[in-house]
Amino acid sequence: MAGASVWDPSRANFEMHRKSSFSLFSDQAPRERPKPAGGAKKDGQHDKLWELMENYRSNDVDSVQRDIVAHAEYTLACTRFNLSDADAYRAASLAVRDRLLESFNDTSAYYLEQDVKRGYYLSAEYLMGRAFQNALVNLDLEPSFKDALMGLGFEMEDLFAHDVDPGLGNGGLGRLAACFLDSMATLSLPVWGYGIRYTYGIFRQHIVDGKQVERPDYWLASTYPWEIPRADITYPVRFGGRVEDYADEAGAWRQRWVGGEIVQAMAYDNPIPGFDTFNTNNLRLWRSCPAEEFDFDAFNDSKYSEAVEQRRRAEDLSAVLYPNDDKWEGKVLRLKQQYFFVSASLQDLLREFLRKPNRQWSELPDKVAVQMNDTHPTLSVLEMMRLLVDVQKLNWDQAWDLTKRTCNYTNHTVMPEALEKWPVEMLEEQLPRHLQIVGEINLRFVKELIKMYGDVPKVQRLSIFQEEPFKAIRMGNLAVLGSTKVNGVAAIHTEIVKKETFAEFYQYFCDIGQKDMFVNMTNGVTPRRWIHVANRPLSDIYSKYLGSQKWLTNMELLKELRKKTEDPALHKEWAAMKMQAKQHLATWLKEHMGLEVDVNSLFDMQFKRIHEYKRQLMNAFYLIHRYSQIKRASPQERSKFQKRTCLIGGKAAPAYVNAKTIIKLINNIGQVIKNDPDVSPYLTVAFVPNYSVSVAEAICPASDISQHISTAGTEASGTSNMKFVMNGGLIIGTMDGANIEIREEGGNDTMFIFGCLEDEVESIKKKAEGGHYPIDARMQEVFKTIRAGAFSLGDAQVTSDFSGLIDKLSDTTKAGTWEGDKYLLCYDFPSYLDAQERVDATYADQKTWIKLCIQASVSMAKFSTDRTISDYAEVIWGVKPAPRPAPQEKQTPNAEKPKATAPQPKKKA
Ligand SMILES: *Cc1c(COP(=O)(O)O)cnc(C)c1O
Repeated sequence: MAGASVWDPSRANFEMHRKSSFSLFSDQAPRERPKPAGGAKKDGQHDKLWELMENYRSNDVDSVQRDIVAHAEYTLACTRFNLSDADAYRAASLAVRDRLLESFNDTSAYYLEQDVKRGYYLSAEYLMGRAFQNALVNLDLEPSFKDALMGLGFEMEDLFAHDVDPGLGNGGLGRLAACFLDSMATLSLPVWGYGIRYTYGIFRQHIVDGKQVERPDYWLASTYPWEIPRADITYPVRFGGRVEDYADEAGAWRQRWVGGEIVQAMAYDNPIPGFDTFNTNNLRLWRSCPAEEFDFDAFNDSKYSEAVEQRRRAEDLSAVLYPNDDKWEGKVLRLKQQYFFVSASLQDLLREFLRKPNRQWSELPDKVAVQMNDTHPTLSVLEMMRLLVDVQKLNWDQAWDLTKRTCNYTNHTVMPEALEKWPVEMLEEQLPRHLQIVGEINLRFVKELIKMYGDVPKVQRLSIFQEEPFKAIRMGNLAVLGSTKVNGVAAIHTEIVKKETFAEFYQYFCDIGQKDMFVNMTNGVTPRRWIHVANRPLSDIYSKYLGSQKWLTNMELLKELRKKTEDPALHKEWAAMKMQAKQHLATWLKEHMGLEVDVNSLFDMQFKRIHEYKRQLMNAFYLIHRYSQIKRASPQERSKFQKRTCLIGGKAAPAYVNAKTIIKLINNIGQVIKNDPDVSPYLTVAFVPNYSVSVAEAICPASDISQHISTAGTEASGTSNMKFVMNGGLIIGTMDGANIEIREEGGNDTMFIFGCLEDEVESIKKKAEGGHYPIDARMQEVFKTIRAGAFSLGDAQVTSDFSGLIDKLSDTTKAGTWEGDKYLLCYDFPSYLDAQERVDATYADQKTWIKLCIQASVSMAKFSTDRTISDYAEVIWGVKPAPRPAPQEKQTPNAEKPKATAPQPKKKA
């Protein structure tokens, strides 16, 4: 069994550093803010200032109401005569933000004072989702805000809808980073996130005439209350120019990078509150702005508009998120984005490192750990070298040693089309100094390899430089070479990384005695958002049966309920919970897309980016097959089919033609079935537009079965599989990514597994190339109906587009190749149908079904990001929890308890 997982349930004691009681702020007494180390700064001049800032905001209903009302009038300039839900949302969120800021400031001060080792998570993407309810839950403010708002005439839940969902990521990778931030704060780990504040996030997906239409996502249209603009925190970032050699004071030759254009990176801080801790961390996102200096010559030459235009272009850098998921695109702007956020982040974290007086550079790896989320931030390795060698004047060997011991790299995909390779020419033009540095790193590495192996082709494969088909830097190789640890994101994936993707690097590290350079860190999701916020009824069941909410920070506790998988009382509550989630989704679907669904049908879901390897097309074929089966059956037989509601959703990269055709096919299947009264009572198929975090929060709780059916060996981990199982749904899936471990934890009977195994794929493809590729008769039947135009709604072009998809698959001479059935849909289809039949048969026995759902759901502790992050902290970063002490309650013996009444209306002229 591929099992390099560092997971060990015996040390899963996440509670170690935590408070024992749940409620953070239940006491209404005023709480004092911590005094600075070395006593209060009473200097006579600022005594009053200190006195006024001595206490935290109070969280009793009356104080909360006063804060909300004050923000409504004095921050937002609203009047009491027309305070809308949207205004109340903004005022309430500002009142929450005040409390976030207190905790955020005091946490930052605490980390600095304690001089703890800090972690920095660098990611080009963060799919944060809505912040309002998350902040209320994590700060334990939900009850007081609910009451406060009710007293002011507002329903808290109505306000949630006004919260924007910043989509600063494509899919799983960005959402993982967001779940990680939640766990890092919750575990009181001094780890910050760094990224890019895109003005336009992932596009909004509309479906028009069954087709995906992309609309820009201008998420900043109304001011975003959850960020703090930091006009005082900026760094210059250079592009272009040239490298100069010069002799320093000691007479040594050095390089400096000059000329070119300078862009300013400005910080926007997004406080990240932990749950059941007093720590609030930070996600610092960089926005590009024009640099301060003007090109006065241009102004004097009366080229005023050109000069302004050039400055305006600086803002383009952070303007848009590239909408590609798992596909590399060699765009200059993308390279510049990567360097932009890497350079700003490293300058910032080194400045923080240097804040301690008498800091020695040798301390860097003891005080800083950097995690590179995929290859997007890999320029960190080169930028760290530049900052240490050119700016801080360290010698090369020490700088390289410090860099390697500070950086770490997470690999997210083994798909060759995703691996970044920046053309040398592009680097030369934009980052000439970095090209020199990577050249030097490679030269030294290659020399060592030649000495070790003397094998030129092998050395060429390990080289950071690719020669063919174009000269380029292999960012994966650079990331591995510049890191202390490299990790995959699920057990099977880490094994593939070691034996295929970076096989020769793995061998090299074994040869130099660093076998444990490659480690596994199986992904997770945060139970706060994905259970407690998304599915409160389920959260309440857990808390009721376990007698506390402690499972929210220690999911191991849920395993206690394995004893109760047959408990009739629990079954009853479980069924009611699922029904409630389905009803909630049904209402949502009706409101958002006018879709009617039967809550008594089996809810079957596949939600994720649309990609050929994820095989939504195979699902579509299955739906056609099921449709034909029902259609052919007699009216009496039809009623024996398990009624299903099949929902599919996800965005396709705008230039990904096949993915967009698949969306159109799914929509057309839905339409044809809807128009067919013989079948529509038994089968509903719909494409749900604009899959995002907030849509996922409505979708996941309602699933009975969800599909995670990638070709074995293609999905690194997957995380929605975890969300769905945590919410009491079962999985139909392949032996791929984290499915394997989810099944291991939940029990083999809880997953409907089908399809070939990862180690069979190669031989299947080999055989297929010989032309021996039987296509199942049922699949041929599906192809026939598609080719006959049964799902084209009378449009011949559409028939041709759909036929294009299946021509590729059914060309048996090219099966298993790029031009053929690369992802083995034809091979896996028969076993997929078997698995679908097992789903129906099992669902028919509701008692067994619910038992399996409970068994799986309560066994998901391994897939809490609390487990993942404590592994990262321990094995990779060496960062320890630094929980800020509880604020002291102020000793005011005779103080009157504040009254929980709404403020009296003001009397104004
Ligand atoms: C969890 C999540 C994903 C990842 O889904 P996979 O099925 O693991 O690919 C993508 N998008 C959103 C909005 C998510 O919440």
